[in-house]
Amino acid sequence: MMRAARFEGEGRIVVESRAAPVAGPGEVVLRVRACALCGSDLRPYRQGWPLTPGHEVMGVVDAPAHRLHGRRAVVFIPAFCGECAECRSGDMQLCTKADLVGWQRPGGYAEAVAVPERCLLEVPDDIEDTLAPLQLDTIGTAAHGVRQALRVVAPGPALITGAGPIGLGALLVLRGMGFGPISVVEPGAYRAGVAASFGARVLSPEAAGELRFTLVVEAAGKDAARQLALEAVAPRGALVQLGESDAWSIRENKAIRRKDFFLIRSFYFPMSEYAANCDLLRAGRAAYRRLVDAETGLDGLQALFAEFAAGQRLKPLMRPG
Ligand SMILES: [Zn+2]
Ligand SMILES: [Zn+2]
Repeated sequence: MMRAARFEGEGRIVVESRAAPVAGPGEVVLRVRACALCGSDLRPYRQGWPLTPGHEVMGVVDAPAHRLHGRRAVVFIPAFCGECAECRSGDMQLCTKADLVGWQRPGGYAEAVAVPERCLLEVPDDIEDTLAPLQLDTIGTAAHGVRQALRVVAPGPALITGAGPIGLGALLVLRGMGFGPISVVEPGAYRAGVAASFGARVLSPEAAGELRFTLVVEAAGKDAARQLALEAVAPRGALVQLGESDAWSIRENKAIRRKDFFLIRSFYFPMSEYAANCDLLRAGRAAYRRLVDAETGLDGLQALFAEFAAGQRLKPLMRPG
């Protein structure tokens, strides 16, 4: 048996005992050490979910015959097919046949989870348990977006709209890749304060709208932020769209129309970038530690989600042990 969270919706999270996961063909069982909360988890938190969520998972491999048995690993979310054109080109995150761990497959708000063996990314010994989950959405997603932009722009002045976990991750990645000065638009005082402590200028939307930036990282997923991002990107600059939501409503105006710029959408990251992302984490370790601002066991998960939903936490962890 094991304990796992069930998201019932309207902020209710029930911890229940159920049968321990069994590894299917090509899978291994992971004993969860940490699962980071993500803004996208607020959907299951509010609406309920048929499976256990949690997609920023780190654990210890429990598969005696496997080369990683007893080793720590994080889980690459897309359970990719390995055969389609995207998978064969190394962009397994773009596999359209992939089920996502913590969404269409059970995730990490549990003591254990069965995951595809091919989705394991081994955690180097010098990266502590609490920072390892940052390799996924926080560093992986942000760094891939910035690398896509570096195909078309050189490091220079940058703006980030939204200093939540993704935006702050992007801030640290931009710093690590030589961008600056870095400005941030963020209405929340706590998040803005953390951004400032990382060396960013905190601007009002109006002030940011008067300036132009080589790179804009849109990490709010809100229409107002997208509008600002499209206006504030410099001529010949790049806008990386990382924030997600279901619908866009953009007002095309002169500031957008009369300008050449690159609009880049990127999703997650290729596994081949993982080693370089570990180096980014090492180089900014003290700052990344600030992002992990709370942890709790399974029984405290509902209370932690309430704080997270209120914007009081950045990248808190559930640690079942
Ligand atoms: Zn996430
Ligand atoms: Zn595929």
